[in-house]
Amino acid sequence: MAMFKKILIANRGEIALRIQRACREMDIKAVMVYSEADRDAKYIKLADEAVCIGPPPSALSYLNMPAIISAAEVTDAEAIHPGYGFLSENADFAERVEKSGFQFIGPTPESIRIMGDKVAAKQAMLRAGVPCVPGSEGELPDDPVAIRRLARAVGYPVIIKAAGGGGGRGMRVVHTEAALINAVSLTKGEAGAAFGNPAVYLEKFLQNPRHIEIQILADKYKNAVYLGERDCSMQRRHQKIMEEAPAPGIARKLIERIGERCVAACKKIGYRGAGTFEFLYEDGEFYFIEMNTRVQVEHPVTEMVSGVDIVRTQIMVAAGEKLPFTQRQLQLRGHAIECRVNAEDPYKFTPSPGRVTMWHTPGGPGVRVDSHMYSNYVVPSNYDSMIGKIIAHGDTREQAMARMRTALAETVVEGISTNIALHRELLVDAKFMAGGTNIHYLEQWLEQRKR
Ligand code: ADP
Repeated sequence: MAMFKKILIANRGEIALRIQRACREMDIKAVMVYSEADRDAKYIKLADEAVCIGPPPSALSYLNMPAIISAAEVTDAEAIHPGYGFLSENADFAERVEKSGFQFIGPTPESIRIMGDKVAAKQAMLRAGVPCVPGSEGELPDDPVAIRRLARAVGYPVIIKAAGGGGGRGMRVVHTEAALINAVSLTKGEAGAAFGNPAVYLEKFLQNPRHIEIQILADKYKNAVYLGERDCSMQRRHQKIMEEAPAPGIARKLIERIGERCVAACKKIGYRGAGTFEFLYEDGEFYFIEMNTRVQVEHPVTEMVSGVDIVRTQIMVAAGEKLPFTQRQLQLRGHAIECRVNAEDPYKFTPSPGRVTMWHTPGGPGVRVDSHMYSNYVVPSNYDSMIGKIIAHGDTREQAMARMRTALAETVVEGISTNIALHRELLVDAKFMAGGTNIHYLEQWLEQRKR
């Protein structure tokens, strides 16, 4: 199969620019689509071709399937890269793209559909030998007696989760049997309203886990590799703000064991493209929580330690090429950290869109900036507040942190507020510097800081 000549990028912001850069490097023409709010984006000005797909609200533009597919038709694109967010994990979109004769740069619609249903995903993982959080091995029944029996067997506290949930919504922690049945019916009601699927399941609630995820890449010939792990435990309201690779303090043997399980699962389900297995990690054990069937915001830390271009590889395997490396050829080197730069108040987290009057980026050895910002750019208020990512790589974690501190100190953003001050404080925090903080650390740290 020949490499694509033209790809449509169905996204915006830094990831649209990231994919455009990969296309340039591969000598592929990139068609950009944009909403009226993104007319002045850097990647639109740099584009080979650009098509306006609607007004600012996402529902009318970046989520507008017919508009995106017609943009691909009028520009003769051969494939569509969905980026992350928006339509990237929408199985119906992937199906419509393929039915319209384009290649979807991602897994098959069936894989997306299974992984989008957390009950189905967990069952598939259990069958493939991936360890999961102990719980109901499927949707909860209606019978209260049976529900109580399941919860008792798992042991309190438990968490009730919506099968169709996402974005940290549709979950409820239950500490006592007295609160169980009411919590189940509340979560069912919410899940039905929010996700159109009232199915819920139950899991043991882990008290102090870390969020560790495994990056995988697979082709359609059942070759698959894992590119090590990322530690994404630094979160606020389930939103990651800083990520690193490798995860401090976890034995390589454990990572290898879980990585091999993920690879085996990919082969078993016929997965193709890039994907991430997300785990909670506690007391030396990994527990699968979900799989993301797309490129992730934090993919650069893995690129920095592995030397593999994940976006380029996504495009290659979508075009039908084989993975260009085997597991044994992959070697991870050094340590990388990513800080997500958000247009928001660093401690109150209120969004801060508007004109960036000055934008000055850092540089030097091991420093990478993925951002669509420039001086005088206006950050629209319609979308996510992330305006870029700063990534620092070093031979050791200490060197990566030192380079990140320098990079953040060199960065100048004027006209809007950003969370850079928060990152700078975290990078000199003794517990963060020691490594291995859990998913509650940032919120506890923010609480303490207020006092
Ligand atoms: P979503 O798709 O909404 O992001 P996840 O299943 O990935 O949902 O869970 C989101 C977050 O909720 C996790 O990162 C973790 O912080 C918390 N969480 C989920 N399941 C559990 C569990 N069994 N024990 C403890 N925390 C959990």
